Amino acid sequence: MRRRAVITSGAAVAGIAATVGVTGGPASAFTGDHLTATERTKARRPETIAARRLIFGNENVDPATGLLPRDRVIVSWITNSSFALAVAGRVVLLDTFVTRLEVTPGRTPFVIKDLVDVTPTAILIGHGHSDHAENAAYVAAKTGATLYASEETCGVLRADFERIANDPVIQGDPVARFPRDAALDLVPVTTTGSTPGTQVLRLKFLEPFAQVVAFRHLHSIATPYDPTYPRNTIVPVSDPRDATLFPPGVLLRPSDPPLPGQLDLRTAGGGNAGGGAGGPVAIFYNITLRTGSNLSLAWQDTIGALRDGKGSAWPDGTPADGQRITDILHQMAPVDVFSAAVGTANFANNGLRDLVDYQQALRARMFVPNHQTTGGSDVGETKSLTHYAIYLQQLRHMGIPESEWPDIRWTVDPTDYLKPLVFDASNPDLTVHKRRRAQLRHFDQFPYAE
Ligand SMILES: [Zn+2]
Repeated sequence: MRRRAVITSGAAVAGIAATVGVTGGPASAFTGDHLTATERTKARRPETIAARRLIFGNENVDPATGLLPRDRVIVSWITNSSFALAVAGRVVLLDTFVTRLEVTPGRTPFVIKDLVDVTPTAILIGHGHSDHAENAAYVAAKTGATLYASEETCGVLRADFERIANDPVIQGDPVARFPRDAALDLVPVTTTGSTPGTQVLRLKFLEPFAQVVAFRHLHSIATPYDPTYPRNTIVPVSDPRDATLFPPGVLLRPSDPPLPGQLDLRTAGGGNAGGGAGGPVAIFYNITLRTGSNLSLAWQDTIGALRDGKGSAWPDGTPADGQRITDILHQMAPVDVFSAAVGTANFANNGLRDLVDYQQALRARMFVPNHQTTGGSDVGETKSLTHYAIYLQQLRHMGIPESEWPDIRWTVDPTDYLKPLVFDASNPDLTVHKRRRAQLRHFDQFPYAE
C-alpha cells in the first residue's frame, strides 16, 4: 500500500529520499553512521545543535555534531499533549500545538523556531483539533519532516499548508518563510470514514530500528454516568496568581492589529468543540524498539469511552467496537511507557474511567500524563496537580490494586517542560523480551501506510 502524497507550494518539487541505513554495528552514543548524510549535515548546524540541547538536554546531544544518542530514548514534554522524542538518533514530534506559545520564550520556555530547528524526521498527529495539530503544516514544510495523520486530518493540513504558503506576512519574513522547494510530505494513516480498530498500519520512518504501529481509536466523549464506580469528586482549579507569577508575553497567534513577530500558524481543523471533518478522528501510536531493551512507548492524545466503544467522531459505537480496540492494545501489553490525555469530555460524568480502561488494557509499566495545559473547562495551565489527585482517586475508585499501578511520572507545568525522561535502551529487558518478540512479529503482519 503506497498512499504518500507530496504536496508542493508551486515552486520546485522536493523529492524526499527516505533512505535508511541498515547497519549491524554496535550501538554507541552519538554515533550517526546509521543516519543519512543529509541528516548528519542538518544535525551539525549551530541552530540545530542549540535547539536539540534546549529540548533534549545538554547531556543528550553531542555539542559538536548535534547527534543524539542512538541507544537512548528521550521523551521531552513540550506542553499539553505534545512531546519531542529522540529515538534511534532521530527526532519525532508527537502533536505540534504549544500552550501559550509566544514570540519570545516566557512561561513556555521555547519558541516556534526551536521546533523547526530541532529538525524532526517525522511528526505524528493524534487528531486534528487545534490544541493538537496547530503548527503542524508549518513545521513540516519548514523541515521536510513526514507528517502522519488520519486521511481526514491530512486534508485539513494540506489546506493549512496552502494558506500559510500564501500568507504574505510569513512568506515575507526572512526567518519564518518557507524554503523555495517547500513541500508537505503527508502520509494518511487511516482512510476517510474508516471504522476504528479495523485498519492497523506500520509507519516506516524509524525502520529498521523501531516498529511504529498506528490505528484509529476513539476521541473522548461524554457518556452517561457509569454507576459501577463512585463519582470522582475532585474539582480542578487553577492558580489565580499564575498570570502575575508568569507575566504573559506577546502570543505568536496574531492579535488585531498584528504585532511584530506574530505568525498565523493555526489549523482549520477546528476547536475543542468539534471543528472540521479532520478534528476528532483520533489515531493511536505505538513505537517499539526492535533491538536492545525493546522499549515500547504508546501515546494517545485523547481517550474515548473504550468500554462503550464510543467517541466524539464515533458516537453510535458499540461495546464490540471498544473490544476490537482493546484486542489491539492487548497485543502491545505490557507497554513500557504509556502517555495519555487526562483532559476528557467525559470528565464531569465519569472522571478518568476511560483513561484507566486504556491503561489496564495496555498493562502500562510507566504512566506519563498529557493534555493538562489546554482543553475544555477542566484542563488548563496550573491544574495539573489537581489532575494528579483525580487520577489517584480514579485508580482507587475503580479498585485497581496498587501492585498494578504503573510507575507514575506526573508532570506539572511549566517546570516539567523540556525536562526529558531518558531511557537507556541498549540492554535486553528479560522480563518482557519474549513477549516483545511476539508483539513485533504480530504487528509485522500489517502493511505500511506509505
Ligand atoms: Zn484536545
